[in-house]
Amino acid sequence: MMDSPLLITSLIERAENYFPNKEIISRTQKYMHRLTYKELGGRVRALAHALKELGIQKGDRVGTFAWNHHRHLEAYFAVPSIGAILHTINIRLSAEQLGYIINHAEDKVILVDEELLPAIESIFDQLETVETIIVMTDEEVVPASKLPSLLHYEQFLEDGDATFAFKKDMEEEEAAELCYTSGTTGKPKGVVYSHRGLVLHAMALSLADTSAVSEEDVSMPVVPMFHANAWGMPHAATWMGAKQVLPGPYPTPEILARLIETEKVTITAGVPTIWLGLLKELDKKTYQLDSLRGILCGGSAAPFGMIKAFEMKHKIPFFHAYGMTETTPLALFSKLKSSQKQLSEMDKLDIKSKQGMAVPGIEIKAINENGDIKRDGREMGELLIRGPWIADSYYKDDRSDNSFLDGWLYTGDVVTIDEEGFVKIVDRTKDLIKSGGEWISSVDLENALMAHEAVYEAAVVSVPHEKWQERPVACVVLKDDYRSVVGQQDLYAFLEAQFVKWWLPDDILFMDALPKTSVGKFLKTALREEVKQQLTK
Ligand code: ADP
Repeated sequence: MMDSPLLITSLIERAENYFPNKEIISRTQKYMHRLTYKELGGRVRALAHALKELGIQKGDRVGTFAWNHHRHLEAYFAVPSIGAILHTINIRLSAEQLGYIINHAEDKVILVDEELLPAIESIFDQLETVETIIVMTDEEVVPASKLPSLLHYEQFLEDGDATFAFKKDMEEEEAAELCYTSGTTGKPKGVVYSHRGLVLHAMALSLADTSAVSEEDVSMPVVPMFHANAWGMPHAATWMGAKQVLPGPYPTPEILARLIETEKVTITAGVPTIWLGLLKELDKKTYQLDSLRGILCGGSAAPFGMIKAFEMKHKIPFFHAYGMTETTPLALFSKLKSSQKQLSEMDKLDIKSKQGMAVPGIEIKAINENGDIKRDGREMGELLIRGPWIADSYYKDDRSDNSFLDGWLYTGDVVTIDEEGFVKIVDRTKDLIKSGGEWISSVDLENALMAHEAVYEAAVVSVPHEKWQERPVACVVLKDDYRSVVGQQDLYAFLEAQFVKWWLPDDILFMDALPKTSVGKFLKTALREEVKQQLTK
């Protein structure tokens, strides 16, 4: 066979060749931009050329600090096309974490959204390697700033050559992107993605038995482009020539519902909090969302009640997937097997709420102190993953030593695997609750609580206990209409019907909101603190 490298540039080249008139719709603060793949290709080439002229060389890191929009998409292809590495910076990190990752990555240039510039300004003094800041804006001029010599993105592009030829003499193993984990457990860790890994991952997203991204789709990643490559959606959609909708800054549930309706979005992706918000919006107002053929949900466990509401009430197919920054991220995908389609609706929803099977190309197993776990849906073990788009180390970080052993990534997630091979995430190792020597799954309790009609969100954490070592405590946010109607007793009665007595939380605390991480997951470290304070009051 030919030794033909898998390169990121081939994705945009294909879209330019075959779908020059397909549109990318991009929402920014002021406008809805509409541009074609032909125009996008020209802008990608101009950006690549301009970055090269600026002195960016192979292996240099170029950061983005931006929402999901066309300019961010341009950077996705332009930066790796010249052999440089695109570092997608999480815009919601603390100032300390931001300073840490930008210095750790040694970014030379940062492409930043105008409205996000203050965050970069506030830490600029600490930045050791950044030489140039390029502001992505719809305005004619860059905003007044205390930073020296800001460049204007559009003017920068004008200086680039829109016919610039992509570099062909690259190895597929070369680094294309760098993304840090969100750092819920200590300092963020950097993961480097190769051209090969990203291309194979985009292909995996396009398989009929996963998300099946195709030319016919209108793809809208709600998951941020700084959160594990927006789960590869921009890569796959560009490669296949799908229309793309990029929802821009502060995408509220109302904005998302309107975009789906007006642009006829067929496939969209995001974390459970996004979809809980959309459900709330759909309760308030009617939208025509029948173009949607699938919602992809991952990042944390999709609650059963939410999947049920989308599938049964709104008739929108819902797909649960699992991954990590370290896995590019798609690793598991939940889709019914043909033999499962005759099952009852409830059984099907049960299967859909599992995280699913390894996608083709990925191998998994789960181990505990007795070795490989049985595929019986009951025995628990830590999930291990390997494959061509799974990281084998962290970027310049000795914490790699504990996570990558014997050719496997140790995920830190505790799972069961059933007879059909479907994986269920029981908990993160550090969130499991050990009560009297037995494990209690916080995810199972949360899932059950969130299936109650009055509950908007629920998270369960452990609290230390003298006799049982640890006990679960539930934190619940009620839907507005139920706040004065539903109490602890109602929720206990609801749980008692589903769980053995020792699984029931010792307390159920009602809260106005639950603390979240920078990518919208329950922030259990902060929640444990809050629970401790409430219980000692
Ligand atoms: P961080 O580790 O900083 O939260 P990641 O986004 O890489 O950043 O998170 C990966 C973790 O998210 C996994 O290890 C797992 O615990 C959790 N996760 C991802 N998808 C799912 C899912 N579908 N169900 C349950 N947990 C999930």
